[in-house]
Amino acid sequence: MSSPSRGGQPALRNVAIIAHVDHGKTTLVDQLLYQSGRYRDAELDKLAGGQHGLVFDSNDLERERGITIFSKNCAIGYESLAGDRYRINLIDTPGHADFGGEVERVLMMADGALLVVDAFDGPMPQTRFVLQKALAQGLQPIIVVNKIDRPDARPDEVVTEIFDLLVDLGADDHVLDFPVVFASAKQGYAGLRPDERPADMRALLEKIVTEVPAPRGEPDEPTQVLITTIDYSDYVGRIAVGRVLAGAVVDRQRVAVLNRDGDITQQQIGQLFTFDGLGKVQAERVECGDLCAIVGLDPIGMGYTVAAPEAPRVAAAVTIDEPTLHMM
Ligand code: GDP
Repeated sequence: MSSPSRGGQPALRNVAIIAHVDHGKTTLVDQLLYQSGRYRDAELDKLAGGQHGLVFDSNDLERERGITIFSKNCAIGYESLAGDRYRINLIDTPGHADFGGEVERVLMMADGALLVVDAFDGPMPQTRFVLQKALAQGLQPIIVVNKIDRPDARPDEVVTEIFDLLVDLGADDHVLDFPVVFASAKQGYAGLRPDERPADMRALLEKIVTEVPAPRGEPDEPTQVLITTIDYSDYVGRIAVGRVLAGAVVDRQRVAVLNRDGDITQQQIGQLFTFDGLGKVQAERVECGDLCAIVGLDPIGMGYTVAAPEAPRVAAAVTIDEPTLHMM
């Protein structure tokens, strides 16, 4: 699970994307999805569940739609410069003031964070709000100074402002030594210096696979999935999205579902999915550390645990702040 893979399953990386509104989160994800097709091989596609190529490689309409339907998670395949294969789950983080610990739960899916900051605006209130929560969860941010193509971009000052913000938030030395890339999500490049104009976003993908730790978890323990978000579809109803904290989860598995108080209902998974591109693909099995979507559970909710019936344990509790009432 932890070592980069050349033979079997690709190694996993789970990254939350955090940003102030309009700093370019959507454009960045779209660009990463689009470009990952270039670094992707047919083998990876098969492992990812049989889809061929990126959903919108050959279809601009799909790509257009992609921009608007990116809501929660997507996944990209990436073969690194060192020749190792990865599957990167990109996790969207709500930037707004949250009620009831939504941001914390979403961040629990991640092992690292991309902090997208506008090269002119610099850090803004939402940047601070979500960054603070990411730090509280021990996530090391990779800073993406975005919109570097802007004529009024002031990248060096913005990096200093981010540094000062991190100091203000009490970040430790390791965090203060943050990796930075300078990007234009719009024009599709990311480099290690502000004056660089490389052809693509590889520098960012390399930072993700080298700086974000492999998922931790307990692969040899009984199944435990923390449900972090609930999606809804007219066709299948509630879709529980979460992270496999222990063991693996299997399609049609009989499970114990625990609410946040630990009350248990015995249920069966109706359908199991993993993430690929912008969509969810059906999976027989989702391994420890990966993200999954489960259909057919009711009752189910945010913060619930889906566990092996023989060892039902509530997943690590999330501390919930008092709602922040001033707008971020
Ligand atoms: P989000 O709210 O963080 O998801 O931001 P969007 O991705 O929707 O981008 C907000 C605006 O910034 C849009 O008009 C984008 O076209 C623009 N934008 C995003 N990335 C860049 C960039 O790298 N350079 C420039 N100049 N504009 C960008």
